[in-house]
Amino acid sequence: WVGTQSTVLGLLGDTTSIDIDYIAAQDFVESVKRVQEPYKKANRKFHPDNTVITLPTGQKIGDGNLALIAGPCSVETEAQICEVAERVKASGATFLRGGAFKPRTSPYSFQGLQAEGLELLKKAKAKTGLPIVTEIMSIGHIPLFEEEGVDIIQVGARNMQNFELLKELGHIRKPILLKRGLANTLQELLMSAEYIMAGGNENVILCERGIRTFETSMRNTLDLAGVVMLHKMTHLPVIVDPSHACGHAWMVPQLAKAAVAAGADGLMIEVHNDPAKAKCDGAQSLTPDQFDELMGFIRKEVEFFGKKMN
Ligand code: PEP
Ligand code: MN
Repeated sequence: WVGTQSTVLGLLGDTTSIDIDYIAAQDFVESVKRVQEPYKKANRKFHPDNTVITLPTGQKIGDGNLALIAGPCSVETEAQICEVAERVKASGATFLRGGAFKPRTSPYSFQGLQAEGLELLKKAKAKTGLPIVTEIMSIGHIPLFEEEGVDIIQVGARNMQNFELLKELGHIRKPILLKRGLANTLQELLMSAEYIMAGGNENVILCERGIRTFETSMRNTLDLAGVVMLHKMTHLPVIVDPSHACGHAWMVPQLAKAAVAAGADGLMIEVHNDPAKAKCDGAQSLTPDQFDELMGFIRKEVEFFGKKMN
């Protein structure tokens, strides 16, 4: 389009690899606007059907039912992880979470049991059959996570834009639970998913875990509208972690119920057998009894929405 003052050029086709900053840097260019989203593989426009993540053992996330991931913030002892695993399973959880490598703000805080934590998770899995979800922080640990039979590898909020890690996770085939960064937009979250998918691993589960805002009464602000928006933007499953979103155990049940109403494909909830003595995130952890009570409600809520618990 040629006007009297300016000329507008349109590019058609796959423009994902075009660097708009480079075009904008040319002195004859006034402005550049991307009409199409820069994420292609994660985009619902090119893949209208929901992606369903299926583990080799049959558990699913994103099939229209609700997946439940529960467990302590960090693995502490064999007795602790096994007790929590048995209790959350009895209440209806389908996956066990537990951190072995912990991203702590202070280097002086408990860093997790590391490789021993993975061993303990494996024991809890052997006892309960629950697949395990645990966080990775370093590329170098990928072989260990594979050997130890981690079922879903979590990329924590702080590593959402650790692009080298994301690229490597694109080369394996295990499902990746990608948490939204503390101050990242939905598009940035999808671009991070795109890194993993571009490498060939399309098994990505997104997790809304609260974003940092000006509010100080809660650890973060749970962006439930973001969950609704993500379901429009992408075909990938979206789960909600109400525990890290608010930081207060007493708030978790209401937020979990709201997440189900907002259409979340799953929940990830921190549960500890003795929250007051937890080495990490005790204040936001439910007791097994509180989790059980919540599951009683969630079961009815899920039914109301015509779904099932997975
Ligand atoms: C966690 O799940 O224990 C965790 C550290 O979460 P996030 O990365 O969302 O802070
Ligand atoms: Mn935690």
